[in-house]
Amino acid sequence: MRTDVHTHTTFSDGAALSSMVGAAADAGLDGVGLTDHCIVTDDAFGRRAQYDLVETYERRRELIESARERTDLALYDAAEVSFVASERDATRAFLDTAEFDYTIGSVHFAGEYDYTSDAPHVGTDDEARRAAVERYYDAVVALVESELFDVLGHLDLPERLSTLRGYSRPSDYERVAAALADARTVPEINAGRINRSLGQPHPDPSVLSRFADHGVSFVLGTDSHRPDELTERVPELRDVADRTPVELVGIGDVLA
Ligand SMILES: [Zn+2]
Ligand SMILES: [Zn+2]
Repeated sequence: MRTDVHTHTTFSDGAALSSMVGAAADAGLDGVGLTDHCIVTDDAFGRRAQYDLVETYERRRELIESARERTDLALYDAAEVSFVASERDATRAFLDTAEFDYTIGSVHFAGEYDYTSDAPHVGTDDEARRAAVERYYDAVVALVESELFDVLGHLDLPERLSTLRGYSRPSDYERVAAALADARTVPEINAGRINRSLGQPHPDPSVLSRFADHGVSFVLGTDSHRPDELTERVPELRDVADRTPVELVGIGDVLA
């Protein structure tokens, strides 16, 4: 693992940019992607004000430029963009303007569902939970087919939630793998919950051979919000990388 493609700074819900770069250096990486949350248009969940990279990316860019003068690491001026299918055009227009080094596209909410915290609004019956998860994968396939993003974030995010865990089916992974096989977007192996709640990376390691069968490669991201998370998760991802049946590529290969 040379580059961590997925980290957050104070420009969304993470720690000081310099501390994240320092942690990446301590972890022995050659590069780190600064991928703050970016919500392009207002959503029903009130997070646009907190995740306002649309307004602050130029300020962050100046900070990244001055940080580059103090490190040998490759620093990527990137973003984790929430995908909302109905906002494709506005998202494309903003990304064309902002010219990030690369973008991660993530489904955090779809329709009436919010997948970022446990989902009491989904209810307790199996059918309702399955409907929420199915809606999630509909959005992931639309994200991949939109060709808007370089990287697909945490592809089985509902597994993170105790209320929705176990409702993802082989057929969901199959249709995501098939969409990825035809697209430029590369998924990540995401360590955001490798040491808590979930206890393993996204996606579920047991489904990775399905992606290998489709010739889908992956990049590696810690999804760290604090420096200690980054230094802890890089060795975990290196272990995952040693065992995985899929081909791993660097972000440079994705952008080439
Ligand atoms: Zn995310
Ligand atoms: Zn993230």
